[in-house]
Amino acid sequence: MKHKTKIRLGFSEFSKKLYVDTKNKILTELNASEKDWNNPKWQLKNRISDVSEISNYINLTDEEYENIKDVSETYRFAITPYYFSLIDFENPNCPIKLQSIPNIKELDESGQLDPMNEEQSNPSGKITRRYPNKLIINVTNACPMYCRHCQRRRLIGGFDKNTSKRAIDESIDFIKNNPTIREVLITGGDALLLSNKRLKEIFNKLSGIDHVEVLRIGTRTLATLPFRINDELAVLLRKYRVNISTQFNHACEITPEAVQAIDTLVDHGILVRNQMVLLHNINDDKYCIQKTNEELQKYRVIPYYLFHPKDIKGTKHFQVDISKGLEIMKHLEGRTSGMCKPTYVYNSPLGLGKVPLVPMENIEHDENGYKFTTWENKIVKKDYME
Ligand SMILES: *Cc1c(COP(=O)(O)O)cnc(C)c1O
Ligand code: SF4
Repeated sequence: MKHKTKIRLGFSEFSKKLYVDTKNKILTELNASEKDWNNPKWQLKNRISDVSEISNYINLTDEEYENIKDVSETYRFAITPYYFSLIDFENPNCPIKLQSIPNIKELDESGQLDPMNEEQSNPSGKITRRYPNKLIINVTNACPMYCRHCQRRRLIGGFDKNTSKRAIDESIDFIKNNPTIREVLITGGDALLLSNKRLKEIFNKLSGIDHVEVLRIGTRTLATLPFRINDELAVLLRKYRVNISTQFNHACEITPEAVQAIDTLVDHGILVRNQMVLLHNINDDKYCIQKTNEELQKYRVIPYYLFHPKDIKGTKHFQVDISKGLEIMKHLEGRTSGMCKPTYVYNSPLGLGKVPLVPMENIEHDENGYKFTTWENKIVKKDYME
């Protein structure tokens, strides 16, 4: 109870005030209306993508200005006005700011561009395949906002580009010719940057393949551009029974706008699951992870994965020790609803797939049998001979 009140929520009066204040400043600056604001196209067209635009809304020191400019020459940035309006510039560790505003630490040269060797798991078109019965099609490299911790930075090139029709058709042909594939993940970038018309064509072709049983969309629009989600999209997703996986990393991203988007999807029967990334200074705290997952459950999003951050160049400052992740998972046991518990996973290098990391210290096994440690640190024995 004591820790709970310290975690910023998207629904708090504090967050709502920040949002309204910055939103009004932006609307005035751009001479735009409330209707514009709620229009996803307007949001995309007016992304904040240059340091001079940031300085329209907050005072940057000369050093901050130069740093943002330097970093953006290597790793571009773009922030929807919506997401930008959630930033608390008074807090150096504001989770929204850390995820969206370039940081000089990104220029650290350590880490790899493609530790999971995704390039090597590309059998055809724009496919990434590492598993026998499921694969990914990357339909675009664009996202509404470029997350500073993005694990696919190498794909986020200098400009936004949707995958060509030809490459998507090639990918679909590959799936057609490989009857073991039962699930297709349509992702990017952010798959919901494609128009409904384009999505429909893709769903239609894929669902026409007998062995394809499930379609899944990867999108972060619920957090970065919630206005993209409307009834028309939800009806389309329902028609093809598409699953959604999204990414909320902190409770302050779960705003009234985000929840409206979630409600639209869930009310149409769409399953929404969350893939959180464990990120230093953003959410590497057991109470923060607990509260964020509880907020997700409250608003009908199923906590799915907690990803251990990969060793990606430009994201070293977000790295967390595995022991920290295990401690968080151990904390969740017994202290919150089982439905608020994601699976903590590590993405193996070289494309060897995801490995669930469970707190191994809970299990002791020797020639006498098993000993388990419960969440209250009580020892229980199974098949144990003394
Ligand atoms: C993560 C991933 C999937 C989906 O895995 P799930 O555990 O089913 O969410 C599929 N293909 C690739 C290449 C992946 O990295
Ligand atoms: S939405 Fe996903 S792919 Fe896009 S920048 Fe963020 S983490 Fe990367």
